[in-house]
Amino acid sequence: MKGVAVPFRGRSIPGALPVVPSRGHESFFMRIDILTLFPEMFTGFLDGSLLGAARASGLLDIRVTNIRDFAEGVHRQVDDRPFGGGPGMLLMPGPVVACAEHVVADGLQAAVGADVGVQAERAAAPVILLTPGGRRLTQEVVEELSRRERIILVCGRYEGFDARVSTALGAEELSIGDFVLSGGEVAAMVVVDAVCRLVPGVLGDEESARQDSFSNPGRLVEGPQYTRPREFRGMGVPDVLLSGDHGKIAKWRQEQAIVATRRRDAGPSDRSGEPSINQSPVPTKKAPELTARAIETTPRSVP
Ligand code: SAM
Repeated sequence: MKGVAVPFRGRSIPGALPVVPSRGHESFFMRIDILTLFPEMFTGFLDGSLLGAARASGLLDIRVTNIRDFAEGVHRQVDDRPFGGGPGMLLMPGPVVACAEHVVADGLQAAVGADVGVQAERAAAPVILLTPGGRRLTQEVVEELSRRERIILVCGRYEGFDARVSTALGAEELSIGDFVLSGGEVAAMVVVDAVCRLVPGVLGDEESARQDSFSNPGRLVEGPQYTRPREFRGMGVPDVLLSGDHGKIAKWRQEQAIVATRRRDAGPSDRSGEPSINQSPVPTKKAPELTARAIETTPRSVP
């Protein structure tokens, strides 16, 4: 789809995709803006099966805007050396803030004519800077983001943002984990992927998202799952899964989820000699013992 040219300080800013109007209360609609110096990185990602289909059906409106289009001068400079010295370059505040303000204003314009209830929400959409030091992304945060009408993600590069960007935009900061990436683009993709699959209508089967790891009230990870064949390299499938007794199956799955969660939380030091839950032939000899121990020691808050 070709972008619409938008004027900025006498120049024409390419890239913004046409506005997809809200289809009313029966269908949820989310607009996501990604601000980046490398828009081409998102091409395959956004056209992929799940996101591509959701965009085509009008559930999601995802736009990518190039921060460099908002830089001044012939060289369109976006980075400079840090005051006080130190390695690398920082993103200058001017282009990032101008780009974000432009995108926020564009969303407000798009909201005019949309549902009244949607307007206020879009107007309030905070800008999110992707930074290693930001609030950690968890499934709880993903759920919170998926309830918003609009998300604006800004990808950093080089040594990151000038500190005044966050203040000028009143931005939130979000980290996808305690490690450092070369740029915010992959982090933005992680956020978009995790959030969009929770937007009603995006996944074919919404029940599957409710049963995923971290998605139940106890935030348990999923236990082992099996498909055909019944026998693989000498490994079978737990009898209960073949029993047809849905009550027993649900109980077994809950117990296995508790075991898997406790193993994960215990960390490597508590796993000595025990095969990983994914490697072990099932049912493992230790499974009943582990299940009993997990249920015994699980805090009351975990159902
Ligand atoms: N100097 C920065 C620091 O020490 O915190 C690291 C900058 S990093 C090389 C460049 C950009 O990648 C960041 O501005 C941010 O947008 C993105 N990034 C790196 N790690 C990230 C993480 N864990 N979560 C979110 N974004 C990250």
